[in-house]
Amino acid sequence: MTTILDGKKIADLRLEVLKEEIADSGLSPRLATVIVGADPASQMYIRMKHRACGQVGIGSVGMELAGDATTEQVLQTVAQLNNDPDIHGILIQLPLPKQVDFERVIAAVHPKKDVDGFHPFNLGLLFSGRPRFVPCTPQGIMTLLAEYRIDLAGTRAVVVGRSIDVGRPMSALLTNADATVTLCHSKTKNLSGETRHADILVSATGKAHFITMEMVKPGAVVIDVGINQLNGKLVGDVDFAAVRTIASAITPVPGGVGPMTIATLMENTYRAASLGICEPVW
Ligand code: NAP
Repeated sequence: MTTILDGKKIADLRLEVLKEEIADSGLSPRLATVIVGADPASQMYIRMKHRACGQVGIGSVGMELAGDATTEQVLQTVAQLNNDPDIHGILIQLPLPKQVDFERVIAAVHPKKDVDGFHPFNLGLLFSGRPRFVPCTPQGIMTLLAEYRIDLAGTRAVVVGRSIDVGRPMSALLTNADATVTLCHSKTKNLSGETRHADILVSATGKAHFITMEMVKPGAVVIDVGINQLNGKLVGDVDFAAVRTIASAITPVPGGVGPMTIATLMENTYRAASLGICEPVW
């Protein structure tokens, strides 16, 4: 029987535990979000993150910059948040408008407030096998796999998509967990030849129903990161109805990876508050 990896249920449970931990800790963790422009999807994600903060007792503040803000203006906002001792985590909502230099903004976030784990320093730690803050989506996936007691050591894992927020850190986390990892992308030749060998298949392409049953090994664990609109419905990268008939475990969309991402952001923010930023960066 196929296990549905219920990210919503696990995320809710973890948020309950986190709420108690925060209440017992005597700490007052605080997350700042930075949004540039008024993209409706980004605004919705920001609202969801602030709501989750309220749910677990994390304070939150939202910084909103106009859609035509310059890189310097965004950097000033980041500097202000870096210097505010009452802010423990800083989240830059992506995507940033084209005129804003993503690399400079991400590198400006204090590595100990980098709860999204995109700072080159934190990505370096992850890739050297000593992770501290890890991007929330792949870390949430690892938590989900662990909660369902899915053993990764010695498995063959295939990740489709090599973005900095999902695919690349996912491949590093799976490597750190002793899986043998293949990272695929749009230039991969014979993609289904790769995916059909996967014991663990993670798809993060942003292409609706891109992963078909023929691309999946019977008995595989299938993780669907994609969030796509298809005929007015929210669907993942995976043709869920067909693939669930052969997978041993699979995440639904919605209710799979998404809620784990937000729960992980809350956990990272609490962790940032616990670490403090006084000690050296490493
Ligand atoms: P992205 O930056 O657009 O990256 C997409 C990746 O997919 C790229 O590496 C691209 O390859 C690869 N790709 C595209 N077409 C392909 C093809 N035909 N064959 C193989 N690989 C292909 O996207 P992202 O930020 O990683 O997000 C991916 C999806 O996940 C989106 O739907 C996004 O909304 C969703 N997402 C969900 C969550 C969540 O919490 N559930 C979080 C983040 C993202 P190249 O590098 O060669 O271009």
